[in-house]
Amino acid sequence: MRTVTIVGASLAGLYAARELRAQGFDGRLVIVGAEPHHPYDRPPLSKDFLLGRADENRLALADPEETAALDAEWLLGVRARGLDTRGRTVLLGDGRTVSTDGVVIATGAAARRLPGDSLAGVHTLRTLDDARALRADLTRGPRRVVVIGGGFIGAETASSCARLGHAVTVVEAAPLPLVPQFGARMAAVCAALHRRGGVELVTGTGVAALRGTATVTGVDLTDGRTLPADVVIVGIGAVPHTSWLTGSALALHDGVLCDDGCVTALPQVVAVGDVARAGGTRAEHWTSATEQPRVAVTNLLAGRTLTTARPVPYFWSDQYGCRIQFAGRYREGDTVHVTEGEIADDGAPGASGFLARYERDGRTVAVLGVDRPRAFLRARRALQRTEGRPDERRRVAPAVL
Ligand code: FAD
Repeated sequence: MRTVTIVGASLAGLYAARELRAQGFDGRLVIVGAEPHHPYDRPPLSKDFLLGRADENRLALADPEETAALDAEWLLGVRARGLDTRGRTVLLGDGRTVSTDGVVIATGAAARRLPGDSLAGVHTLRTLDDARALRADLTRGPRRVVVIGGGFIGAETASSCARLGHAVTVVEAAPLPLVPQFGARMAAVCAALHRRGGVELVTGTGVAALRGTATVTGVDLTDGRTLPADVVIVGIGAVPHTSWLTGSALALHDGVLCDDGCVTALPQVVAVGDVARAGGTRAEHWTSATEQPRVAVTNLLAGRTLTTARPVPYFWSDQYGCRIQFAGRYREGDTVHVTEGEIADDGAPGASGFLARYERDGRTVAVLGVDRPRAFLRARRALQRTEGRPDERRRVAPAVL
């Protein structure tokens, strides 16, 4: 393989570049990125960056020495607009083309949009530029902030805005936020965290429309109420960046379909990170984006699926001064036991946090920790031993071309 092109210059793309060099690829390495920035870390955007505790320099994922050592051609600020798999060419938005033998798709996801979200004062939070714009709006004095969506981005931005002294309301369509991720019992703990943080949580109602002419003035709810707002943050999920692959003959369905080894229907094309639907699931977690490139690159260089991985999913979230960590796969019907620490009377975590285990058929399938890093790490390791083995039967073959 003489040339490998990585499309997407962020976390998974950078880790793929590192793996290529670490695994001995010494050919031409091209990295295409739609954003003008070198890879930077997204998790601080909703946390320390918004709070003004981390400046932009601290977000960089690689220092200049490492970037130079990767010996890559960085094509930044340009979007790939197509992949000609027959001609083995990546087509760029500015008309250029890159001939390539192998492709790593690492285009991540974009924030899901709401109709009317182009009004001034309405934000999504996915990129550094989004975070800069939001931070600028939040420094104009006390604001009435409405956060639409009680997922992780919504909860973290609500927490940051409240800490900055703004009046914050979170609107969540479901009766509780984060039920699909944590189940109802732990979702209730997250709801209590909002209340403890001084944030109003409005649940069980959707958003009918954003109000305002040039600038947002409020949010109309489907139950007939209007919440006045100076700043609105739309946190209603992310959509994988796959539109540039339409017509490429790759199978696309809420992500790029690939097997447990991140290999698509074409052995010379692999997908990693938030855009990859690997083995039937698509993760939107930092850790998956850093773990997948190892197997993906091994398989890309081998020209076939040599190795697969099905690690136990892991993610963390920082909200209202608490670190929430979760590992495993929650399924409706799992029973949840708090095995260390406690939940306080207000329904939020007790002063020393807690550890909860999710059980199914007598075995632990997931663990959730709040401010219990050591106990959580032990439980996560145990889970990896029992649940993290590669399971060939679960391999999902990508659709054939
Ligand atoms: P991305 O980081 O989305 O990068 C994809 C890159 O590809 C982008 O730069 C994009 O512009 C580029 N691109 C897209 N289309 C094209 C194209 N056609 N051509 C060229 N380039 C293209 N995870 C956790 O586990 N814990 C957290 O606390 C946490 N906090 C987060 C907070 C925020 C605000 C956000 C946004 C995410 C957070 N995450 C967290 C998720 C984590 O950051 C992502 O899982 C991770 O960034 C995924 O990396 P990626 O490289 O796959 O995709």
